[in-house]
Amino acid sequence: MAVTMQTPLSRVLGPKTAKGMAEQLGLETVRDLLRHYPRRYARRGEQADLADVRVGDRVTVLAQVRSVTTRPMRQKKGSLTEVVVGDGSGRMKLVFFNHRHTALKVNAWGMFAGTVGEYRGEKQFAHPDMHLLDSADDDTDWARALVPIYPASKDVSSWVIQKSVKMLLGAGGGFAELVDDPLPDEMRSRHGLLSLAAALLDIHRPTTPEDVERAAHRLKWDEALTLQLTLAARRRAAALEPGIRRPRKAGGLLDAVDAALPFSLTEGQRDVGEELAAELDRDQPMHRLLQGEVGSGKTVVALRAMAQVVDSGGQAALLAPTEVLAAQHARGIRALLGPLGRAGELDGDPAGTRVTLLTGSLKAAAKRQARAEVADGRAGIVIGTHALLQEGVEFADLGLVVVDEQHRFGVEQRDALRAKGSRTPHVLVMTATPIPRTVAMTVYGDLEISTLRQLPSGRGGVGSSVVPLSDKPAWLDRAWERLREEVAAGRQAYVVCPRIGDEAGADDEPEDVDGAPDDGPQSDRRPPLAVLDIAEILRTGPLAGLRLDVLHGRLTPEDKDARMRAFAAGEIDVLVATTVVEVGVDVPNATVMVVMDADRFGVSQLHQLRGRVARGKHAGLCLLVSEAKLASPTGQRLAAVAATSDGFELARLDLETRREGDVLGAAQSGRRSGIKLLSLLEDEELIATARAEATALLDTERGLADFPGLAAEVAALATDERAEWLEKA
Ligand code: ADP
Ligand code: MG
Repeated sequence: MAVTMQTPLSRVLGPKTAKGMAEQLGLETVRDLLRHYPRRYARRGEQADLADVRVGDRVTVLAQVRSVTTRPMRQKKGSLTEVVVGDGSGRMKLVFFNHRHTALKVNAWGMFAGTVGEYRGEKQFAHPDMHLLDSADDDTDWARALVPIYPASKDVSSWVIQKSVKMLLGAGGGFAELVDDPLPDEMRSRHGLLSLAAALLDIHRPTTPEDVERAAHRLKWDEALTLQLTLAARRRAAALEPGIRRPRKAGGLLDAVDAALPFSLTEGQRDVGEELAAELDRDQPMHRLLQGEVGSGKTVVALRAMAQVVDSGGQAALLAPTEVLAAQHARGIRALLGPLGRAGELDGDPAGTRVTLLTGSLKAAAKRQARAEVADGRAGIVIGTHALLQEGVEFADLGLVVVDEQHRFGVEQRDALRAKGSRTPHVLVMTATPIPRTVAMTVYGDLEISTLRQLPSGRGGVGSSVVPLSDKPAWLDRAWERLREEVAAGRQAYVVCPRIGDEAGADDEPEDVDGAPDDGPQSDRRPPLAVLDIAEILRTGPLAGLRLDVLHGRLTPEDKDARMRAFAAGEIDVLVATTVVEVGVDVPNATVMVVMDADRFGVSQLHQLRGRVARGKHAGLCLLVSEAKLASPTGQRLAAVAATSDGFELARLDLETRREGDVLGAAQSGRRSGIKLLSLLEDEELIATARAEATALLDTERGLADFPGLAAEVAALATDERAEWLEKA
């Protein structure tokens, strides 16, 4: 039987190995195994891995035996053997009980794998798996310059994978035939890429680092192209759906909004506005992402688009990630529209519409009333949270869906709302923060993109500093003084903490501290500071006498809304809050933000938080309080946030500090994935080129019809469990 890429591994490998690969690594077919690339390459004698391994890690190392000592155990019968192995830079102890490995001699080379443990402060492997290099062995793998180290699992070691791959690659010299190259020859030669067979040979059995690099480049191409083909297909499918034109009409709500705005639009707001106005006037549904700096004024851009849709007889829905934000939007839009937003009420203007708020916390009667307004079309502008997605909410004629602060919503939810229109409504998605270009081309790759780069003029700007408690403890007192000075000048302040506090343990979870880098096990760290504790300390201490209140997710929605309203009305000086204030909250009189335990937040999150102050004409101040030493990586990360207000730069930094897997589902040991090598940080050019190629390919009449290999790759990515990230952007 001829082996092909689709051959199940159980036909070509031993049953135990095949089972382990399938169950622990998700490798089912020859293709899966050949696409299971080495994590890295070891070189005898010159690697730093032993110095870097961390307790608890499961690792494979290549090292040489330095010493072997066996002694009887003190308490029990039997013997204990300690073997010290080393490489160029580190040493590590292996421990065996009743050891009988006669080949484990000083100077022998081998690979050792296991979970790193610790004994009396020294790292060690207890009973590691190992594979010794027999000097008489003419297995040239060991003599090769680079030894591939694979993502392995408990029962499938790196060297078992190495052997299995070698067997497949050597399969009767017919290997090159078994590999069908999905890339069109013409495209390959245009971009100077290796054939798939050559790339697979080189990634698994390289002689030089250059071999690895060229092979990886080619294999990344496969990933990038497949991904971009998938996204291009989505864009095309969306463009083919029938939509309804919502042309601009003079003398309606939009004109009223423009007349009521207390400021003039920035150039960017005007340009994007035109873009949206034109796109709403097409019978292809708009599918667009609006990204912009925090405070760049995305809301008003969205509102103007919504007004245009209402003017042409449709309804517009605005989906917000939190109730606080939904209520704020409703308040702001009602205030702006005045009588035009109260059609049907006593003082309403019959030429206007209704602004209806629909959130989960509405009382049953109010909810029924709101649903009725949505269903019969009286509500032209509908604002809500997830509750809008629920069954039972029907629109009379949904023309536009605006999703605010997209990172809290997935594609599925967007789709659920779109499905509420009888014809596909136009969709505008707004991100909370700017996103790097590679993320725009991948995670948001099915959307067209508009960008607001400019902030409205006349903003005071925010000065940021780190308050490093371990280096400069006195600075904290100064921070509270500054806050008091601002309040004395009539301004307001936020104090943000990672946790609510005072809970019965179980739900003592940080509220949405997402994006914070993974610092490994944190058992040795004290719990994060809590809103309730800090509020108490401030009230009785440094901020005594100020009007101080708390805001967090455990309050009832009415309570949250009431406090937010009181803060907006200037009745509260200092709001001690969790990240519920992170997205969108807009109180222009607030000028100070103090973030406690700032190191517990991610870079983009800090930027978002900071965006809550200096939204009016007064200059703002953001203080990042942390116990991290300024010189530590964490301290440096905070310093970087303090040093720049460029959201694009920070988004990139964020990408660097969080594991990329969070974004693209990359390289976590073992699981099956279509995206393994491609990096959002390093492969910008490649991704852009692949995007252009994919778009061009799908724009031809026959599409992928002549490229069954590519079509198969696209199909494989779609069924890949990791394609999940496409759904949960
Ligand atoms: P974001 O883009 O972060 O969602 P918002 O839409 O909440 O920002 O706007 C931030 C603040 O700027 C709001 O108070 C809004 O009224 C104000 N604003 C928006 N556009 C302008 C403008 N062109 N000139 C002055 N202020 C503006
Ligand atoms: Mg906003």
